[in-house]
This record gives sequence, structure tokens and C-alpha cells, in this order.
Amino acid sequence: MKINFLKNDKKYRIKNSLLEFEEIFSAAESCRKCGKCQSVCPVFRQTGLEQHTARGKLALLRGLKNDFLFDSSLIEHHLRFCLLCGRCSNACPTGIDTVSLFLRARNLMHEFDKKSFIKKFLIRVFIKFPSLFSFFKKRQVEFKKNYRHCKSYEKKLVFFTGCLFDRFFPQTTENALSFFKKIGFDPVVVSGECCGLPFLSSGDEKGFMASSEKLYEKFVNIDSDIIVSGCPTCISTLKKIWPFFSKSGKEINTRFDILDFHQFAAQQLKAKDFEINLSSDFKGKWHLPCHLQSIGGKKDADFILKDILRLELDESSRLDSCCGFGGSFSLDHPGVSKKILNLKCEELNLKSGETLLTGCPACILQLERSAGGKNRICHTIDIISENMI
Ligand code: SF4
Ligand code: SF4
Repeated sequence: MKINFLKNDKKYRIKNSLLEFEEIFSAAESCRKCGKCQSVCPVFRQTGLEQHTARGKLALLRGLKNDFLFDSSLIEHHLRFCLLCGRCSNACPTGIDTVSLFLRARNLMHEFDKKSFIKKFLIRVFIKFPSLFSFFKKRQVEFKKNYRHCKSYEKKLVFFTGCLFDRFFPQTTENALSFFKKIGFDPVVVSGECCGLPFLSSGDEKGFMASSEKLYEKFVNIDSDIIVSGCPTCISTLKKIWPFFSKSGKEINTRFDILDFHQFAAQQLKAKDFEINLSSDFKGKWHLPCHLQSIGGKKDADFILKDILRLELDESSRLDSCCGFGGSFSLDHPGVSKKILNLKCEELNLKSGETLLTGCPACILQLERSAGGKNRICHTIDIISENMI
């Protein structure tokens, strides 16, 4: 089956780009300015600047609307000062999906700057007088009614490695496959592809759409109904970012159960009887990845750590602070990224011989910068698989 993700979605995006501007500004207006996002933002904790919080970024977007989108470059710069960790979104009582919103806003602004004078003029008129373009809304409502389709499939599994496992942690992929086999699954492995987030976060929307298209085609050509990955950032991108950017991204979420490894493993280990025998002198600490938290996987990780691995975790494993990686954020703002990492490592205070478990390959790479060498830092997959009987 050949589905042209890029072509269909380009049409979809052109039709909806004006509506997206409107959606972004109306989400910015729904902010209650309560400041809950400020209290959880790791970047704000380091810089103390309001424009680095979600509330500050939304205020800048509201200002941009009132200013007819003139001089958006500084605002784009502030929107990029973000780890895309999703903590603000989780804390927000209004439920604003800040990460998707900031990514879309910064790419729209980037595209807007490249448009002709006439197109810029039309967009500015639309932003100020959206009712003049109400025919777009009718079309969108019809579209939303029509696209959903559900089919029933037999339960078959895809394991999506994501690009970091491919490049840096092939043994963890082997360990995941050994775990799946022991619990009775023989997954189809999708490797060598990227979810697209690294492109999008560095402002390359074309690269994002192209890599999403390749991955989408791989998924839809496999007779399966569950997608599992050991990278919660990939899962968060498939679940939250893809639907925001494309019609196909919405469809894939109705067709597949898309789960992080911890979510899938917790389901399976609750339902079946498996023995995992961790040595009594194993000493471990835990780092909760921001994206695992943002997709609601914390309780599943807790179940695996406490009920399956029977780890006695101390207070430092419960602090849930960010490691400061944030993809291109660590390259664009290495000083702030390192400060966030140092704070995380101080909180963890790893002792000799302690293993640090986490659930994300990007967090492992970042934490190894500071704590690697002295301590083993690995994915939960490795510990489960190595100790499963
Ligand atoms: S938590 Fe949500 S509503 Fe409150 S200030 Fe932040 S973005 Fe606005
Ligand atoms: S996504 Fe994370 S870094 Fe970005 S504004 Fe929200 S809490 Fe701060």
C-alpha cells in the first residue's frame, strides 16, 4: 500500500495554515496566567526569565497578534529557548498543549518570514479579522468528521527503535527483543528511521515531514496494531506532535496503540507471571525522563521499579527534575543545558557502584556526560532483560 503522506499533508497544511495561526493565538489567549508552568520549568529555574516560561511565551504570542506579526524574530528566538520537555503542559490547568504549540508557532513564523508581501498581507488581515475567512472553518469541521476510521486488528507488535538506539545502544535493542520473546511476542523491528523531532526542533519542517513520511509508510505497511518504543520522546512525538502537523499523523493514532516500553511492559507484567531476579546487592537510582512523564508513563515506570524490580529508591529518585538535554537545546544553549545537568547530578548524588536507570536514550547520553565512567547508566529494558528468568 502506497500512501503519499507528504503530498496529502502538504495540501492539508496549506488549507489549514491560516487556521493554525488562529488556533495558536486562541490557545495563547486561553492562558489564565496562573504561573503553574513557571514553577516546573527547568529553563526558568536556571535563567529566571519570564519569557522562558510557557506563560511568558504565550504572552509574547499574544503580543505578536496585536502587532500584526511584525518583527517576529525575537519572539521566535524566545520560543526556541525551550527543552520541549512538556512539564508546563502537564502542569497547566487549562490543558494547553504547549510543546506542539511552540513547535508549530516557531515553524509558522519561520515560513511566514519567507512569504511574499501579498501573502503576508493576507495572513495579517486574517489574524486581525478572522471572521472574514469563516468558510475555512466549515471545511475544517467537515474534515474532522470524515477522517476518523477504526478497524479491528489482531494484536501484533512493532518495535520502533528510534535513531538513538540504532546509533548508540544496539545492545538495548537486542535486550528488548529478548524480553518480547520471553513474554510471547515476535515483533517486527522498525529501525533506521527517525520520528522527525530533531528536524522540527531545529526549524527544518521539510525535513520533519520527509522523515515522518518514510516512517509512516513503514508503519502502515506492517500488519500490526501496537507500536512500542524504548524512546519516550519518539512516542510523545508520534502521539502529540504528528497529529498536530498532519492528517496522517492523526490517523495513525486511531489505528495503532502507541506505547512507551514502560507502558507496554507494565501491562504485560501485570497480566502474566514472570520472574525477574535482581541480585540483592544491586543498588539503583532512577531518573524519570520528561517525555515519559508527559505521556503519562510515570505510574507504569513506578510499577516496574517497585513491584517488578523491587528497588528501594531513595528521595533523589523521586525528584523528577530534567537532565537538560532537550535535543538541539543542548547544542544551542550548552551553558544552560550543563547547569540543568549539574543540578540533576547533584540531586542524584550517585555513590560508587550504584546503577542509574532511566527510560530514554537521550537522557542516558546526557547523564553520561557527567556521571558516566564512575557509574553504569542504562535503560530499564537492560535491567529487566538481563535479570529475567
Ligand atoms: S500553567 Fe497554563 S494557564 Fe497557567 S500560566 Fe502556564 S500556560 Fe497559562
Ligand atoms: S516545555 Fe519545558 S522548558 Fe519549555 S517552557 Fe515548558 S517547562 Fe519550560
